[in-house]
Amino acid sequence: MRAGRDARAAGRCAAAQREDPTPCDGPADTVTVLDRLGHEVAGCVHHAARLLAGLDGGRVHPFAPVARAVEVYVRARALPPRAWEVGL
Ligand SMILES: [Zn+2]
Repeated sequence: MRAGRDARAAGRCAAAQREDPTPCDGPADTVTVLDRLGHEVAGCVHHAARLLAGLDGGRVHPFAPVARAVEVYVRARALPPRAWEVGL
């Protein structure tokens, strides 16, 4: 996953993609997103959803609070991969 260091340096959560200019929504460690290989990154609800929308086989860590996990899945489902490229 190409999230992390650059985003944190810019004051955003680790789930924020470098190319995504949007600000965080809530705490930077609200949920953890896993890719299909098990790599994980913590993020705010907004960036976790945007990251999840572009991951093949991605999921929210099962220890995340249910309400937060559902919120991330619902938001991700409404987004295309790389949402920032289409102005979302
Ligand atoms: Zn964020």
